[in-house]
Amino acid sequence: MLPTRSIVALVALTTAATLAAQAPSPSSGQRYNRLLIRNAMVIDGTGNPARGPMDILIEGSTIARVVPARAPDEFGTGRRDSARAPNADRVIDATGMYVMPGIVDLHGHIHFSRNRQAMPKDYVYKLWLGHGITTIREPGSGEGTDTTVAHARLSAENRIGAPTIVPYVTVSGETPAAAREAVRRAKAKGGVGLKVFINRPDVWEAIAEEAKALGLPIATDLKIQELDAVGAARLGVRTLEHWYGVPDAAIPGPQHFPVDYSYDDELDRFRWAGDLWRQADSARLSAVLDTMLAHNVTWDPTFAVYEANRDLARARTLPWFPEYALPNVLAFFEPDPHRHGSYHFDWTTTDEIMWRNNYRIWMRWVREYAARGGNVTVGSDAGFIYHLYGFATVREMELHQEAGFHPLEVIQHATSNGAKALGLSTTGVIRQGFEADLAIIDGNPLHNLKVLYGTGVETVENGRAVRRGGVRWTIKDGIVFDAPQLLADVREMVRRAKETTTVAP
Ligand SMILES: [Zn+2]
Repeated sequence: MLPTRSIVALVALTTAATLAAQAPSPSSGQRYNRLLIRNAMVIDGTGNPARGPMDILIEGSTIARVVPARAPDEFGTGRRDSARAPNADRVIDATGMYVMPGIVDLHGHIHFSRNRQAMPKDYVYKLWLGHGITTIREPGSGEGTDTTVAHARLSAENRIGAPTIVPYVTVSGETPAAAREAVRRAKAKGGVGLKVFINRPDVWEAIAEEAKALGLPIATDLKIQELDAVGAARLGVRTLEHWYGVPDAAIPGPQHFPVDYSYDDELDRFRWAGDLWRQADSARLSAVLDTMLAHNVTWDPTFAVYEANRDLARARTLPWFPEYALPNVLAFFEPDPHRHGSYHFDWTTTDEIMWRNNYRIWMRWVREYAARGGNVTVGSDAGFIYHLYGFATVREMELHQEAGFHPLEVIQHATSNGAKALGLSTTGVIRQGFEADLAIIDGNPLHNLKVLYGTGVETVENGRAVRRGGVRWTIKDGIVFDAPQLLADVREMVRRAKETTTVAP
């Protein structure tokens, strides 16, 4: 038997070694005093039409100038000198490319493991940055507040390659007093917002009151509970995640679930959620939206995370899985009653049709909310239900287009609207004085949002089929990341994991 002191030393050693092995690699991104992006088409993120070609001059972490990239003699003397910046430390030639603000994913859980197996700690970060995502709101992480807050700091200091992390903290409590204490603790630990999905109105009120006093915005995933979207809006909730609570507030009486329904059975829960929009009364829904609007609620619908419900075969066979999905991530998605979101047993034709109809009504009301002036955002909730980090955020954007939004509006949802929801007043727009968060894309996302996928798109050039697309450079806070290199790193992680994964016979 080892003496106690040796055991302690051994444990400390092992822990340090484990941590080192799992730590995210140092950032591969670099910031420049003067960075010039030349000759790019610019989508500014506000819904304005594309302009260009333009030159964008970035000084440190700030956009210093955005000016037309015409030949100097078209301007006469002097005007172009500072933007042409002969003394730029770095010039990126973006001829033929589009630049948009970096994507703000409002619902990005940081995961360091799936299916109880550790993943390289930069796997998720690289998939995000590789898809032009420069900010994520962490809506409550299983990795713990301390880790999320620490990584937010490391990312801000460019010591790890990751998007800007906005850490929200999940709070709850058995009693109002305990919940108030949890809110104060969340703030003390460095949380800048709260995620709430408890089911007890008095506790909800205590949290809302304490959060208001401490200046912490609340994001809620209401699921099925006493409080609905109207109640949440009145309590001052900043963002409504998914859609739970919206149709519920417009159904006269309780939801019409089958008599043998159990909320704690995930198959029951997800299956019958697919009937709620049909049950909602239109006139009531209209009033629910007005209340949300009056209380300035942002709606973060996360359409794509439920897409498996309307087409399970599509969800299970996505073309990026072979090269980009770690085996344990895919294993996590497979049906198992013990895992959250892995409920697709006995998933029927009838279920898929019910969900397709659910989507049609849901999308119409999200479109209506934006038409009335409501803030609609892009959030992925990746890591659940066949929904892979990075790719999932792009898919979410595609579903916003399916909901009836113009691609310019979709990009606005994914950039400036997200920044607005987070209270980031100089993020999400390509504009002088704003933070240099940008995605430089090999293609035109207004023509085809799919150019944002790391796997690119097939197109024809000079009569020949070619593969193009993907984000070429992701710039976060002025730090330039080589997006294809980050994605190559991910492919290598996946290749290695497959080598070491023993497949059951
Ligand atoms: Zn979530």
